[in-house]
Amino acid sequence: MKIITREQLTQLFKKTKRFKPPRPESGLENMDFESLKFLGWWDQTANAYYLVYKLERKAGGVSTGTLGGRTENEAEEKEAEKRKELVGLKFDVLRLSSRGVFARAFCELCHKHRKREDILLISTETKKKPKGVDYRTKGIYVCADPVQCNKDMKNTADLDRFITAILEG
Ligand SMILES: [Zn+2]
Repeated sequence: MKIITREQLTQLFKKTKRFKPPRPESGLENMDFESLKFLGWWDQTANAYYLVYKLERKAGGVSTGTLGGRTENEAEEKEAEKRKELVGLKFDVLRLSSRGVFARAFCELCHKHRKREDILLISTETKKKPKGVDYRTKGIYVCADPVQCNKDMKNTADLDRFITAILEG
């Protein structure tokens, strides 16, 4: 998948209540998907964060994919591409207050420290109930700016783990 269109996004989130695609000014149509590890956008009016990711499903493995995917070996890439599944998730957003014990907060995806107001706590219910626990909410601290987060993200291991945990409980 090289590009994700608005139609594909709408299809991906068709079961999501009050889905809002990225605003036109976010530049979805002109985005360089080859370099994106994930597509994210924050709907501030609804306080929702949306994340689209191509997850490679394999037993116990960790994907190194990007949305575009570039590897040396084309056949290998095609095989890996077949195992990938486009996943769209909607999260509730808790924005950190600008005052806190620490002046800066940490993004768990790109591993950068940023000003507190530039970090969001996003959370959602896992699709399956995890064994032996009552709660099923999973959350993570991420950059409020998904474009910057993408740029600073060295690899997708933590994103893979997070999304797998949501999908598989
Ligand atoms: Zn980040």
